[in-house]
Amino acid sequence: RIPQPTLSLQANFASDLPELSIPWQAEETPEPRLLVVNEPLAADLGLDPEWLRSQDGIGLLTGNRVPEDAAPVAQAYAGHQFGSYVPRLGDGRALLLGEITDSGGHRRDIHLKGSGRTPFARGGDGRAVVGPMLREYLVSEAMHGLGIPTTRSLAVVATGRTVLREEGPMRGAVLARVAASHLRVGSFQYARNHEDPAVLRRLMDQAVALHHPTAAQDANPSLSLLRGVMKAQAGLVAQWLLVGFVHGVMNTDNMTISGETIDYGPCAFMDAFDRNAVYSSIDTGGRYAYGNQPAVAQWNLARFAEALLPLLHEDQDQAVSLATEALGEFPREFGTAFSAGMRRKLGLPADAPDEAVGPLIDDLLALLHQDHVDYTQFFRHLGQAARKDLGPVRDVFTDRPTLDSWLERWQSFIPDPESMERANPVYIPRNHLVEEALNAATAGDLAPLHRLLEAVSDPFHERPGFERYAGPPPEDFGRYRTYCGT
Ligand code: AMP
Ligand code: MG
Ligand code: MG
Repeated sequence: RIPQPTLSLQANFASDLPELSIPWQAEETPEPRLLVVNEPLAADLGLDPEWLRSQDGIGLLTGNRVPEDAAPVAQAYAGHQFGSYVPRLGDGRALLLGEITDSGGHRRDIHLKGSGRTPFARGGDGRAVVGPMLREYLVSEAMHGLGIPTTRSLAVVATGRTVLREEGPMRGAVLARVAASHLRVGSFQYARNHEDPAVLRRLMDQAVALHHPTAAQDANPSLSLLRGVMKAQAGLVAQWLLVGFVHGVMNTDNMTISGETIDYGPCAFMDAFDRNAVYSSIDTGGRYAYGNQPAVAQWNLARFAEALLPLLHEDQDQAVSLATEALGEFPREFGTAFSAGMRRKLGLPADAPDEAVGPLIDDLLALLHQDHVDYTQFFRHLGQAARKDLGPVRDVFTDRPTLDSWLERWQSFIPDPESMERANPVYIPRNHLVEEALNAATAGDLAPLHRLLEAVSDPFHERPGFERYAGPPPEDFGRYRTYCGT
């Protein structure tokens, strides 16, 4: 067994931006038990997976035994929650343990969720429970498998503590999460309201250095940062839509500066295509519905731009016009990323003219919506249609005449089935499979979770033995509901 070389955690965020965090410690875990550990990610971070399973390793993963140089903090941030501004949110049940340099030379945050109350906990108990933490583990790893920027999950440890929730007593857990940073739009909103204007500038400098380093040389680094974040988020939301992902709680504190997906609370992947799909039990107005996500991202970016105004220009009228101009690019950025992705999903050649492809995409989405077609399975069936087997795709539609005329238009471009297979996943973390895996795990059987993880970690490559992971839910699965913050 290889002993873990002395692990060192840097504390650049804590030392460069002391105004944006509070030094804090994790609460003790009475009887910690490692439920799942991400071996490839551990290796990428230079951590020995065997060591992570040891008492010391589990101590790190729960925040109870941190290296001597570590300075864990609870981060402060503000945020618009469902459109209403909350000036002080912050890590109520989370800690930034510190930063580590990965094998690619990149700085990565090691962060815990469910590690006990902090000064930001307000009425919360600071805890998290097994099901939702495994859910974040599973869905974030699925996103990574799909090639979509995301925070990663390193491990979930059951704490041995009983946590009370509305539904009754539950098993407590801590998730160890890895991210390029935990800087959010809400971090900038918080810094903007700090009495010392230098805090906002220091935060901007750190965000530029971490996520948009070329902006440092630009004439107006804060404007370059705004543009960079706008592009990253436009591309990210386009990728979510392309795989049928509904984030569920796109509050400004849940939107990163890095462009990584963060906060897997009430998220879900849709089965049947529905522009209005909403899963979160608290999103009664459908603010964060599938098809609203681009508009919400743009709204959040406007809040980011507002926070940056003092840095954008001395003259605030000029600052507003610079920000407006930059944000005005969002629809085009999103549209370009979305249609490029759709072209890949449809196997279209590069020279297919936009004037024909645009309506082809719009008409397809209208047809999928109208016939409640399973979104993920449709594109795999369409891949078969590109190989001249039209049976499977025709079987899932009721409006055959409309489908047939659409298929004829699509086939006129001579779609490439191989590139379609690389662009269209077979396995996504479908809601019925996630529920099944989490229910089993909560009852003590981790086998279904591992099996599902195996499927979704390599989502484009269809393989025998995984047939039941590839199709829509059973008809009696019913309407799916997700919950925040458990
Ligand atoms: P979220 O909806 O997960 O983005 O969380 C919103 C805010 O609520 C954040 O400030 C969290 O830290 C806080 N929060 C959520 N659950 C708890 C909890 N059980 N205890 C303390 N704070 C919490
Ligand atoms: Mg959050
Ligand atoms: Mg959450």
